[in-house]
Amino acid sequence: MNKQIITASVCLLAALSVAGITGKNFMEVKKPDELRPGPGVTQTKMLSDYFPDIAGTNADSTVYVMEGEQPGGKMLVLGGTHANEPSGYLAAITFVESGKVEQGTVFVIPRTCNSGFTHNDPQEGSPQYYTIQTKGGPRQFRYGSRAANPLDQWPDPDVYVHAASGQRLSGSETRNINRTYPGRPDGTLTEKASYAVRQLIDTEGVNLTFDLHEASPEYPVINATVAHETAMSIASNGMFELQMAGIAMSLEPSPTNLHGLTHRELGDYTDTLPLLMETANASQGRLRGKTNADLVLTGKDKCYVKAQKLGFLYVPYDETGHPIEERVGRHLQGIYEYSKAYSAQYPESPIVYNGLPSYQELFLDADPSELGGTQLGKYLN
Ligand SMILES: [Zn+2]
Repeated sequence: MNKQIITASVCLLAALSVAGITGKNFMEVKKPDELRPGPGVTQTKMLSDYFPDIAGTNADSTVYVMEGEQPGGKMLVLGGTHANEPSGYLAAITFVESGKVEQGTVFVIPRTCNSGFTHNDPQEGSPQYYTIQTKGGPRQFRYGSRAANPLDQWPDPDVYVHAASGQRLSGSETRNINRTYPGRPDGTLTEKASYAVRQLIDTEGVNLTFDLHEASPEYPVINATVAHETAMSIASNGMFELQMAGIAMSLEPSPTNLHGLTHRELGDYTDTLPLLMETANASQGRLRGKTNADLVLTGKDKCYVKAQKLGFLYVPYDETGHPIEERVGRHLQGIYEYSKAYSAQYPESPIVYNGLPSYQELFLDADPSELGGTQLGKYLN
């Protein structure tokens, strides 16, 4: 056989195997993580049950319904608004796998921006997965992107105009679900997803909504709760209890001139009381060093320790980092204290649940060698 044909065949074979391997990886990343709902989940629905237009698209997402034996208020927990902020995602999953509602109904959406879990942000070097040892063995969880996948919504405009307010943002924000509320039934896929969340709130009569986030340690709004003015009295009462439990939490009013976010638009366009919480995630920060699954789970980063010493940060930062137990613990304790404050203010529609670890149990009392995933894994199935 001619030498060129042999060389060409070898090259073609090599190219096909690379395409095969990367293609397999690409398809696997699109599969959602398997969740293992606990006995507290009484029904499983889809976002498309509230807005059928998104059925069969990557905007659709599972809604776990947890009904108490006694009637009461309705609460919605939004995890995974940003798929590169693991504490919100894992707090929602912990709720679904370990929580049990006694009074009222809790709706949990672990992947609010489902499409964001199907890809990573380019040039960030983010890990695709991180692994946690759980009761059922090691489990992989996806580390995704802040925005929906361009394969689901493309191209981005140069300027993103928020439909309800006319606010102008950079084009890529058109795929950020937390800039598209209250959503539009005839808008982009991301606008349809936020519209579906709003439809759920209206249809089910959700009283209280939590949106769980993380932010870079150098971002000013961190270890913070942002509250719509209608939720301010609940937030201030709950924050007092959080401070008493040793959790430093600042309370920020939702800016009236910043549009598209849950804490503004869900309060303006629905009857729910919206609260958004932020924890510190080094793996999405701009000053971070080596970026891997370990950083996602432990938050240990020499560069951030140095940045703290130079006064660049808004959270304390030392060699112990900010492990996932601290960050998930803050979210779970926050939901607990704010929902308790809600139940005290609206005694005719209380929301009562149990089974979830407190901040003290999950973080403060934990063996330091178990922080970084192992301790949290005890509450995952
Ligand atoms: Zn976020």
